[in-house]
Amino acid sequence: MRHAKVTAQNIAAAIRNVPDFPKPGIQFKDITPVLADGRLFAGTIDLLCANYKPGEVDAVVGIDARGFIFASAVAVRLGAGFVPVRKKGKLPYATHEQSYDLEYGSNTVAIHIDAVKPGERVLLVDDLLATGGTASAAVQLLEKIGAKILEIHFLIELQFLAGRDKLKGYPVKSLVTY
Ligand code: AMP
Repeated sequence: MRHAKVTAQNIAAAIRNVPDFPKPGIQFKDITPVLADGRLFAGTIDLLCANYKPGEVDAVVGIDARGFIFASAVAVRLGAGFVPVRKKGKLPYATHEQSYDLEYGSNTVAIHIDAVKPGERVLLVDDLLATGGTASAAVQLLEKIGAKILEIHFLIELQFLAGRDKLKGYPVKSLVTY
């Protein structure tokens, strides 16, 4: 028997709210229950891939660390490469770096200078869009190396933080919004 298709509502129902993590006032959206359920995890990847067929994307870019989980699965499904955007100091080869502010603190992200060839078509994937600082830093890195960004896709968007405003000019999609 075929299982019913996973919907965004099914995913939303599995996301766990953890108050005051990692510091007071932050309500952390915990996606580990989504990952732990094989049907939900696969259905999430289906939804993240929905607009693309194999051959239409050269690389899927994931953001350290939870973005890696989703981006790598999307890459395999689309027959595309996977490219990590990592926290500063983690990538071994020559990098470009970009600093940004995040909902809690600040950070610098990096990408290998040859991660994507100029003109290659990429999808950028992360677990959650909050203030947009992280994704916007990743976009700047991708622009620096000449990638063509097709879409920026999140599992979760905290709409009240207006992170999309930092990603103007790019198609932004999210599966679950708060
Ligand atoms: P921002 O740069 O503000 O858009 O923050 C996005 C990044 O921080 C994402 O990579 C998330 O993994 C993480 N993040 C920010 N706020 C939360 C939250 N409330 N729950 C879970 N992750 C969060």
